[in-house]
Amino acid sequence: MVRLRQRLAGSQNALGRGLLALLSRDRLDEDTWESLEDVLLTADIGVAPTQELVERLRTRLRVEGAAASDVRAVLREELTTLLEPEMDRRLQVTGADGLPGVVLVVGVNGAGKTTTVGKIARIMVAQDRTVALGAADTFRAAAVDQLATWGERVGVEVVRGPEGGDPASVAFEAVKSGVERGLDTIIVDTAGRLQNKQGLMDELGKVKRVVEKQAPVTEVLLVLDATTGQNGLIQARVFSEVVDVTGIVLTKLDGSAKGGIVVAVQRELGVPVKLVGLGEGPDDLAPFDPGAFVDALLG
Ligand code: GDP
Repeated sequence: MVRLRQRLAGSQNALGRGLLALLSRDRLDEDTWESLEDVLLTADIGVAPTQELVERLRTRLRVEGAAASDVRAVLREELTTLLEPEMDRRLQVTGADGLPGVVLVVGVNGAGKTTTVGKIARIMVAQDRTVALGAADTFRAAAVDQLATWGERVGVEVVRGPEGGDPASVAFEAVKSGVERGLDTIIVDTAGRLQNKQGLMDELGKVKRVVEKQAPVTEVLLVLDATTGQNGLIQARVFSEVVDVTGIVLTKLDGSAKGGIVVAVQRELGVPVKLVGLGEGPDDLAPFDPGAFVDALLG
């Protein structure tokens, strides 16, 4: 929690301070609410959730006459509610019937997929789980090498194919080897070429179909770069139309003042943000905890 706060320090906390300063004014008038809307929209919370939040705060602080000293608590509560704390955020990494869990990691190039695969593998190794990685981003030699480096770093095997080979066949081999060796989990790094929706659908659809000849996919994680704001939301929509996304990983939250994108993206896709990326290092991945996040945001 302390680390989260440190990582979100600076512009993120400025959001929290801005909100608190606004709501601590002696008079909460129209001007206050408009300024509040601006602050929330700038943080990428999105139009509908912003209006809802302002409406709820107006009611609670003005109509119900909450005291100024309650402002922080009320704001904390309402922000946490917006983050839908009841959602199940556990990663589905365990398969049924003795089969490995299969995690597909999808998202556009540069979002942080490969890094996230490495970080998740590290967490799982620390939990004494047996893991292998599939380097199915065969279009970029650098991506395969990068994943191989992560594999060495965290001590897990990386299944790779020929450069420019078929991503689905690499994914298939990775899962096959995992089934044969009785591993707990296979994590597959996929290609993120967003050339067009049909192309993406064909590619990811094939990866999923082929993998499922071996073992059911237990989790499809969509990796989104928090710094891309509303653009990221458009990408998220395309991916969710192509595969059944079960969880979101929001990366680069350390470098963004747009933490509100967490709210927007959960609303948009109806699936929980499960993990957040807080830096480039191997330990810079944390489970997403709405309460801790809001606390960090409010500083
Ligand atoms: P991919 O193309 O989706 O596989 O993306 P990569 O995993 O190669 O990541 C792209 C860049 O973003 C790399 O330089 C990563 O180190 C960086 N990156 C990934 N996750 C994070 C994060 O949470 N915070 C920061 N600051 N950088 C990140």
